[in-house]
Amino acid sequence: MDDIEIPESHPRYESLLTRHRIEAGVEKGITSQQGLIAQGRGEAYDYLLGEETIDTADEAARAAAAHLLLADHAVLSVNGNAAALVPGELVELAEATGADVEVNLFNRTEERMEAIAEHLREHGAEDVLGLEADGRIPGLDHERAKVDADGIGDADVVLVPLEDGDRAEALAAMGKTELVIDLNPLSRSAQTATVPIVDNIIRAVPTITAHARELQDASRDELEGITDSFDREAALAAAEDAIRGGRLD
Ligand code: ATP
Repeated sequence: MDDIEIPESHPRYESLLTRHRIEAGVEKGITSQQGLIAQGRGEAYDYLLGEETIDTADEAARAAAAHLLLADHAVLSVNGNAAALVPGELVELAEATGADVEVNLFNRTEERMEAIAEHLREHGAEDVLGLEADGRIPGLDHERAKVDADGIGDADVVLVPLEDGDRAEALAAMGKTELVIDLNPLSRSAQTATVPIVDNIIRAVPTITAHARELQDASRDELEGITDSFDREAALAAAEDAIRGGRLD
């Protein structure tokens, strides 16, 4: 936790912590101003979900862990919000699954790419991809299409937290197995995902890591059993129901 003075007993602790980290991310040149708006959207959905991991999100996190462990080449895509909120947690997930970490920005500037890569290194990342940008995602305009050819370009499984809908669709069209973390079950990113994890990234990344550690010694058959039995439509419907049910406090 970065220099934080919010008491853990505060009823909205997690939400205040999230805001604090995003604000610090903007100050550090990691998160864009638009990232603040994205955070606000996410927070509204999280409030309606009761700010907790619903059962189907936990199942999705388990399926995501199994996909990451089964992958030939898995990449965790990191944008400005993800870097501000869960830098160390993403590094731990990469270590637990053997995935690469790649910085991938909607509003790409070299300064922000470098600031995020440095922030991830400060949190333990050894190799950070994304700076070469020698590959392209077909169907997107130039800046947004940039990826590393030996990173997302080559990956069969990609975790894209809080991804913009256009890019999520374009990655899915490339035939990649897409694991999406997004609090909005209706977003195009969640709708196009192989595995939509409708949960706050702050909770979802450590949950995927915990499942990955628990499944570390599982056989391919067992892992494939988990990925095959995951029902994305049911998970999206359950999340939508939870949100429509809302919270009453
Ligand atoms: P669409 O996919 O519908 O086109 P968009 O591309 O406009 O949406 P953005 O506002 O760029 O979406 O992306 C932000 C998405 O990330 C929103 O759907 C929001 O709910 C989600 N989000 C924001 N903060 C978090 C968070 N902390 N954890 C999980 N999801 C979040």
